[in-house]
Amino acid sequence: MNELLQTLDRLQRATIVAFTGAGLSTAAGIPDYRGPEGIWTKNPAASKHSRVSHYRQDPELRAKLWQGRLVNPLYGAQSTPGHHCLESLARAGRLQGVITQNVDGLHRLSTGYHYPLIELHGCIHESRCLSCGDIKPMGEALERVVHGDRDPSCRIPSDSGSCGGVLASNTVTFGEPVPPARIEAAQALIDTTEVVLVLGSTLSVNPAARLVAFALEQGKEVVVVNQGPTRYDDRGVIKIHADCQQFLSELDALVSLPNTSAFAVERLSDWLLAPTTSCAAEHDQR
Ligand SMILES: [Zn+2]
Repeated sequence: MNELLQTLDRLQRATIVAFTGAGLSTAAGIPDYRGPEGIWTKNPAASKHSRVSHYRQDPELRAKLWQGRLVNPLYGAQSTPGHHCLESLARAGRLQGVITQNVDGLHRLSTGYHYPLIELHGCIHESRCLSCGDIKPMGEALERVVHGDRDPSCRIPSDSGSCGGVLASNTVTFGEPVPPARIEAAQALIDTTEVVLVLGSTLSVNPAARLVAFALEQGKEVVVVNQGPTRYDDRGVIKIHADCQQFLSELDALVSLPNTSAFAVERLSDWLLAPTTSCAAEHDQR
């Protein structure tokens, strides 16, 4: 408990950059990838179907996916209390910004207060032309699908009339690299902070997870809050085995107190700091 108190004491005073994964969004009804109910745990083939080369070459697959987007509850998901706690921490001047692996857009939806946000894998609420790179609100393409366009294409003017490129969700899928500028922006954000707080990620997807290695190399303290094992549990991080919604709620309350001794530590007795076994990385490269 002493080590946990020391960590909370540190978090109460330090500047924080949050690094968020699917575990933060499960409270919004969005399944994670590798948890017990995860998409890839239940259906390992699902990750292969998200490869961009299949999408680019197969108009029938695209038509099916556009229809799927119309009814996908992900597009109507609302931010969780944990997202609002992060906003509150930012308003209090404690959160430097957020780096997220999530494509659900819930950080940008949560907020009337815009903290620096780096969506490493993009966002489903934007469409992107695979030819010219133009980015638009996803709602515009979905509106065309509603009106009968089975496979909407890019309408950006070009010499031959319009671009006509394949439109996709502006997200990084398997087979695509994370844009280097996003990694550089994330590293620059990490440079500004004292503590990197990982929330709800198994840290098994690179290059996103390598940002944790970068933070450790820069001498940053890394606190990992996750209910299962992560790939970095035995690599010099402070691991807190806890639900990240509950953790953020407690942290939000904590920063408004004068010191941690005023904090009801009994409530945290379920949280474990002991390292657990590390899980293997399944996908080393996006
Ligand atoms: Zn285009």
